[in-house]
Amino acid sequence: MTHRGEIEVRNPADGKLVGAVPDNAAAAVSEAIRRLRARQPEWEDLGVRGRAKWLLRYQDWLIDNAARLTDVVQSETGKSRCDAEIEAPAAIDLVKYWARHAAAFLADERPTPHSPIGLTKRLVTRYRPYPVIGIITPWNLPLLNPCMDAFAALMAGAAIVVKPSEVTPLSAVELGRGWAEIGAPPVFSVLTGGPDTGRAVVGAVDYVQFTGSTRTGRQIAAACGEALIPYSLELGGKDPAIVLSGADIDRAAAGVIYGGLFNSGQACISVERIYVEEPVYDRFVASLVAQVRRLRQGNDGRGFRFDIGAMATSAQRDIVQRHVDDAVARGARILLGGKASGTGTFFEPTVLVDVDHSMTCLREETFGPLLPVIKVADEDEAVRLANDSVYGLSATVWTGDIRRGERVARRLEVGAVNINDAFANMVNFAVPMGGWKRSGIGARFGGAAGIRKYCRQQAIVSPRGPLLKREPLWYPASKARFRAVTTLMRAFDGRGRRRFAAASAAALRQTEPLRGGRRPR
Ligand code: NAD
Repeated sequence: MTHRGEIEVRNPADGKLVGAVPDNAAAAVSEAIRRLRARQPEWEDLGVRGRAKWLLRYQDWLIDNAARLTDVVQSETGKSRCDAEIEAPAAIDLVKYWARHAAAFLADERPTPHSPIGLTKRLVTRYRPYPVIGIITPWNLPLLNPCMDAFAALMAGAAIVVKPSEVTPLSAVELGRGWAEIGAPPVFSVLTGGPDTGRAVVGAVDYVQFTGSTRTGRQIAAACGEALIPYSLELGGKDPAIVLSGADIDRAAAGVIYGGLFNSGQACISVERIYVEEPVYDRFVASLVAQVRRLRQGNDGRGFRFDIGAMATSAQRDIVQRHVDDAVARGARILLGGKASGTGTFFEPTVLVDVDHSMTCLREETFGPLLPVIKVADEDEAVRLANDSVYGLSATVWTGDIRRGERVARRLEVGAVNINDAFANMVNFAVPMGGWKRSGIGARFGGAAGIRKYCRQQAIVSPRGPLLKREPLWYPASKARFRAVTTLMRAFDGRGRRRFAAASAAALRQTEPLRGGRRPR
């Protein structure tokens, strides 16, 4: 059986059926991955330049189809047009980044030997792709999420299989269609289905790039551990914003609103907690409320009529309601919003105050349009509370003094800090995008590491200069040759008089007891 029927896709803003995709069974997954594996060597053999040509043709296709792709994104997520329309341009930008930089990132390296003895060798480190990469993605950015991983993996020379979320598979199906349409080598497959399809992908590929919840990430890590294959996980977040007293308060409020409410708060790097220094707290809250009040929410078309759209699923909407209700039951006050609205999965943009860390909305990921604001005495309290989380994806700091902002940034236990802006690290592909603590393992992309992660390193060590009849340590054993080599090693590597001492490490042990009477072992 290749698939177990179909998965219906509905627009969560109005419940209308917008498409259906196959629910691929394990047999279909392994067959697709077998075919990818067979075609991967010719893709790798094209070399970086050959692969870049295909990626740039694909970029043309993305540009030509951007409006239609945005329609598809909107149809399966219920987003506002402005939130949906950023996905295709960001994907187009990513193609250029990897097509332009892959050659330098993947070029052979010729490291200098660490010791003069190594000068007898020529050292090369090279990068070769894992043959098949599995990319498993969530529902919040259905077009961009697969692209964030796919282009680097393809440019590395791997074949890829994308397993999009069963909630929003249509955009990824379009991505696969585009690859076929330009006539590119068949090294890019999209396999739709639910968690079982995901599990089958994990069981058949050579590397897994997963983006999604921490709960699923843990299961995938366990499965990869069992299969002994590498993986990289981009997981949930509870990103803090810190507003310091010298900040431009209206800009800080506007930035926190965009950071917290973009995509109805359904971004892993959404602002989910706002710590404001006491002297500017009242002014900040007033500005925040005034600006959130002006936001327009509704079921958008192509016209940019609304700022905030629906949520992707009713289950996610219910989580937001649960977080609000829990906070209110523990003494929080709702300044705006606080409930689901209209038909579909809309939840009003919500501002909460009088919140504390006993509340679910400050401990668990909300992934919704919720802005809880906390007054703090000073920078130290802000940093302490910001770090009081199991998550560590990213953070923002809002300040009138960039050096102070950078000082605060360096104290935060997160993978990225944006100063006076939100999301900036995610669109600057030269820096890493990755979570600390339970927000992830490895980085998703960013500079050379973002493509080398899809490669195995290979060391090639060859002789430099004429060959001896035999190397000094080869058999038959010779005390003189052995001593000559180890004396040289010690001379190059040791410190102070030890480097010249005739005494062996054993002799030093006799003569130099450590403080406290213990001898070096
Ligand atoms: P999810 O973990 O439920 O599902 C993600 C994907 O994993 C889906 O494609 C799903 O079918 C698949 N899956 C589920 N169980 C699986 C298993 N056992 N083996 C293999 N695949 C499996 O996440 P979601 O609800 O779709 O997305 C929301 C979550 O994603 C949030 O926690 C959010 O923070 C996170 N997220 C993180 C980032 C990031 O870059 N850090 C970006 C976007 C979303």
